[in-house]
Amino acid sequence: MTALVDSAPLDRSDTAIFEPKTALPAPAREDGRRELIGLSREQMTDELAALGAPAFRARQLWQWIYVRGATSFEGMTDLSKDFRAKLAERFVIGRPEITRQQQSIDGTQKWLMRFADGQEAECVHIPEEDRGTLCVSSQVGCTLSCKFCHTGTQKLVRNLTPAEIVGQIMLCRDAFGEWPASEGESRKLTNIVLMGMGEPLFNYDNVAQAMRIVLDDAGLALSRRKITLSTSGVVPMIRRCGEELRLMLAVSLHAVTDELRDVLVPLNRKYPIAELMAACRDYPGLSNARRITFEYVMLKGVNDSPAEAKQLVKLLTGIPSKVNLIPFNPWPGSPYECSDDAAIDKFAAILMRAGYIAPVRTPRGRDIMAACGQLKSASERVRKSKAAAPVSAS
Ligand code: SAH
Ligand code: SF4
Repeated sequence: MTALVDSAPLDRSDTAIFEPKTALPAPAREDGRRELIGLSREQMTDELAALGAPAFRARQLWQWIYVRGATSFEGMTDLSKDFRAKLAERFVIGRPEITRQQQSIDGTQKWLMRFADGQEAECVHIPEEDRGTLCVSSQVGCTLSCKFCHTGTQKLVRNLTPAEIVGQIMLCRDAFGEWPASEGESRKLTNIVLMGMGEPLFNYDNVAQAMRIVLDDAGLALSRRKITLSTSGVVPMIRRCGEELRLMLAVSLHAVTDELRDVLVPLNRKYPIAELMAACRDYPGLSNARRITFEYVMLKGVNDSPAEAKQLVKLLTGIPSKVNLIPFNPWPGSPYECSDDAAIDKFAAILMRAGYIAPVRTPRGRDIMAACGQLKSASERVRKSKAAAPVSAS
């Protein structure tokens, strides 16, 4: 197995490399005004109280922002003119700047966003028959360097702020004209998966604040059952996430032995498979209607044998779960190939025979590099090639 040859020597005590960088503060605006998106309800109430406004004003403002999609104070006719002027002096209701937008032939849509400090991240909308899912990023880059994932090769890493995370949902609603948030309508944005760039449980506080905003009944009002957080296995945070946010959980497993998972998902050296599975078994609120999704990227000759499928069945025993088999999406320089269809089918059949739902995830948006683990790579390459191009002498 060539994939294992260049693996780093195992040292389970050397885990410092996995520690996330501390979140940078949200970059301040040059005009000194502050962003209202991303504030919790309590924070917004406090900000308005400092202007002498009673609590119900914060509720009104919240509705304008998260039910009506307002981006300025002018049209907020149930607020006095003076108060609107005060708000406009101090605050903005912004969106991430969209620097590139692409649509795949299969309808998948990708937005490249640039934040105030020039850093970039992407989010992707995937339309399906009965729902539309927005794949949201939680960090710029990722510290975890999983071997098959392009995001892990990106040097720059910082946590996204609550405003930047919620902003992705806001810009998607803008794009589909899905304001105001009315009930019973067929919507293009129904589900959220935290499966874009970054490890959400390494940016827990900001992700939690953003998800509480998205869940708030008086605003965007998404249901917990329609939000899935995907983690590569930050064991100590899994329980906390389950207790506090009660979101659906996806776990990027990808291997059934520590020997291989240490290589594919280096965080495994800190939190090996047995600890990860124990945390999954304890995830609050699990039932047959509320299962953990285990993600398993299919890598040719590396993790795709029938014996590994059988071992996976053993690992899942006692955990209400389903398995998403993800055909590997190669990227330039990636060290792996995608498993053959026959190998994937055989793997899926073993899981299904054991009673597990095991869909093979159809790759979406491949033509616009919107598939798992590829986000931002196309835009980075364009920039690199521009940087390398000779300057014309005109
Ligand atoms: N950091 C989190 C969430 C983002 S990654 C996590 O790892 O779970 C979202 C999913 O895409 C993960 O299951 C990841 O393993 C998968 N993925 C990453 N790169 C991929 C690639 N090149 N091909 C297929 N799936 C990939
Ligand atoms: Fe980070 Fe997830 Fe990619 Fe691993 S798979 S490098 S945890 S984004």
